Amino acid sequence: MIGITSYGAYIPRLRLDRMSIYQAMGWFAPAIAMVAQGERSMCNWDEDAVTLAVEASRDCLKGQDKKALDAVYLASTTLPFSDRQNAGIVAAALNLPKSLMTLDMTASQKAGTSALITALEAVRGGCKHHILVAASDRRETRAAYFYEMWFGDGAAALAVGDRDVIAEFKGSYSVSCDFVDHYRGAGHAVDYVWEERWARDEGYSRIIPEAVNGLMKQLGITISEVDRLVFPCVFKAEHRNIAKILGASPDILGDTLHEVCGETGAAHSLLMLTAALESAEPGDRILAAGFGQGCDALYFVVTEGITRLSRRNGVKGSLSNKKTIDNYPKFLKFRNLIQTEMGIRAEAPNQTAMTTLWRKNKMILGLVGGKCQACGTPQFPQMDICVNPACNASHTQEDYEFSELPAIVKTFTSDLLAVSVDPPAKYGMIQFEAGGRFMADFTDCDMEDLVVGLPMKMMFRKRGEDKTRGFVNYFWKAVPIPGAREAMNRISFKDRVAIITGAGAGLGRAYALELARRGAKLVINDFGGSRDGSGTGESTPADRVVAEIKALGAEAVANYDNVATPDGGQRIVQTALSAFGRVDILINNAGILRDKSFARMEPDNWNAVLAVHLNGAYHVTRPAFQAMKDAGYGRILMTTSAAGLYGNFGQTNYSAAKMALVGFMNALKQEGLKYNIRVNTIAPLAASRLTEDVMPPEIFERSQPELVVPMALYLCSETCTQTGAIYNAGMGYYSRAAILTGPGVQLADGGNPPTPEQIHRSWDAINDLTGAKETSNLTEALMAMMSP
Ligand code: NAD
Repeated sequence: MIGITSYGAYIPRLRLDRMSIYQAMGWFAPAIAMVAQGERSMCNWDEDAVTLAVEASRDCLKGQDKKALDAVYLASTTLPFSDRQNAGIVAAALNLPKSLMTLDMTASQKAGTSALITALEAVRGGCKHHILVAASDRRETRAAYFYEMWFGDGAAALAVGDRDVIAEFKGSYSVSCDFVDHYRGAGHAVDYVWEERWARDEGYSRIIPEAVNGLMKQLGITISEVDRLVFPCVFKAEHRNIAKILGASPDILGDTLHEVCGETGAAHSLLMLTAALESAEPGDRILAAGFGQGCDALYFVVTEGITRLSRRNGVKGSLSNKKTIDNYPKFLKFRNLIQTEMGIRAEAPNQTAMTTLWRKNKMILGLVGGKCQACGTPQFPQMDICVNPACNASHTQEDYEFSELPAIVKTFTSDLLAVSVDPPAKYGMIQFEAGGRFMADFTDCDMEDLVVGLPMKMMFRKRGEDKTRGFVNYFWKAVPIPGAREAMNRISFKDRVAIITGAGAGLGRAYALELARRGAKLVINDFGGSRDGSGTGESTPADRVVAEIKALGAEAVANYDNVATPDGGQRIVQTALSAFGRVDILINNAGILRDKSFARMEPDNWNAVLAVHLNGAYHVTRPAFQAMKDAGYGRILMTTSAAGLYGNFGQTNYSAAKMALVGFMNALKQEGLKYNIRVNTIAPLAASRLTEDVMPPEIFERSQPELVVPMALYLCSETCTQTGAIYNAGMGYYSRAAILTGPGVQLADGGNPPTPEQIHRSWDAINDLTGAKETSNLTEALMAMMSP
């Protein structure tokens, strides 16, 4: 069986909002408003058809044996060199063996599909077994033109072969004719385009159906045997119309990517084919066509092999990694469409010595360094002597490829004086995880994206251009890995051990699930009693939450002890120490309610509530605090309530217990400080069994416990160094509550106490909270009283 064995794609990270073209140039070309929707992909200043092709090819060759390649075909109409094989630069960047054939295919928008057919036929002929076909384009247009809106930059790569086929090649059919809807004369930068209506009616809608029908006839199939039909067409309505002419239902028509990328020239058919393969399932039948001075049509049937191909960045990945800009002058500058003053420094000679380029070919184009065979130390560049001071062996270096190795930023700077098309120039030291480092230029990032330790990957880019001699210099640059900065900033609880009391339901369960998602190991304590704390307890609530956490792939153990007893508290903490060896986080969350007006507040109801909320927190915190103190780290969260902070009818027991926890925190924060144990208090508002008959239904509905979780988790994180504070959290609202002291008045005259009448006269001043302050401990409060 022969066919496609792998695929890859690359669309540059930058997108230009089409509206920005209209906003800048609408005064001159008002008609472009009609097409100013969506965005087009655009190369960074250091990207061209060769660098695009290298990226797509790297994506395609992920996990593939690149040494098995017999040939590399590169299709493009915007190749940077007319006479220096561009496919050869791609092969050098990919570090492919010299024993293969490289070939450029150009001068038509169907160069991509023609290259693919040529490769498939070479494999079918048996003289070649594994060929990489890359197609890329970075076409220029004049400013403020429809085509400037419609075009995009991008590349696709397909490997074809006779083993591990993911889409079997069933056949192809080509129509070739000198139909000139547009052309680009030799030495001209932009296309000359003929009338659209004619290109549409005489070109696209006649020639594409002719090739597709020719192929179907040749294979003896009908359009009902096509599950995905892909072909490019800049005219949106015509694209649908051609499908109609072919009798294809609109559901099988592949998206032209017009809204999100634009048409990528010779790469576009293969890019659309790659997008189709990305979502294909075994058995899917794909018909792909490429248009340009005729049309190529190819038919594939997807095999089971596609399920074994590892994930590619592909079209989807490229589209999701984007930065949209509305800076149209930047687009013009990046494409050399406006002349800017680059300063005297830019005039420094930049001629490339071909001798050096050849001698250092592997190092410059392939990013090949060395690895000492004696001690295993990698280094860049390769030299005669090993850089490891403990080794220093000479002539022990073997080739070592750095381009695919993960690295991090060790140092970085931005330089406004250095000549740059996109100032400031950003560069710094890159440290490879497996060893080896060097100073690299950074690209596809802004200064605010960079931070020491940021994971980076290497990308093949233009280093500069010798415009006088028409030579482009390439080298590797470092680029932040998409999403890595966000991941670095992500609050993680990896390997942290958390105890949550009363975690079998409500808020405790919600805290537990999110902590587990973020890497924590959990002790899920729940006594399993009724809402008022009565009953002998049950294991179901804790077990259920443990099962939920395990289903997330995280670790948790259940504990069914009652927090209201000293032994229960001990055993809860012991559960964590036995299972995980440490306690980093304690959330005192277990709670019951026994609401009664004060006149009916019998000792039982009073004591039961204090036993769970206040004594329960004491029983668990004491052994947990000891373990945290020993480890020199801890985060403790108390749970108070608006009832305690502000008062609520019928809850004297609950309010007293909840406010007592604030006093508990105030003292404990002092004791924990030097052990890096931070103690805070949350006052949540959430729908749970405690509140179901208390809250009005519309508030109950809007009060998901998940809206309290972010505050609780932040307070339990290493990032949070706050201690001794109270936070309200509920319904998406977060605020701090605090005990403030007003400036007051000094009334005692020497040792003589004031009279009650003086107090009465000073009542307003005593009550005045203007300029009230928070006091962080008793000593500070005493000082304030002594010298108000
Ligand atoms: P909930 O009833 O859903 O959860 C409390 C859990 O604690 C229950 O699963 C219960 O079995 C468990 N529990 C009770 N007594 C226990 C004991 N002695 N030992 C071990 N576990 C025990 O209620 P919730 O609303 O999630 O409340 C959680 C905490 O938040 C409580 O301290 C509550 O006072 C406080 N709070 C809640 C709100 C709110 O709006 N839900 C408002 C303010 C304060």
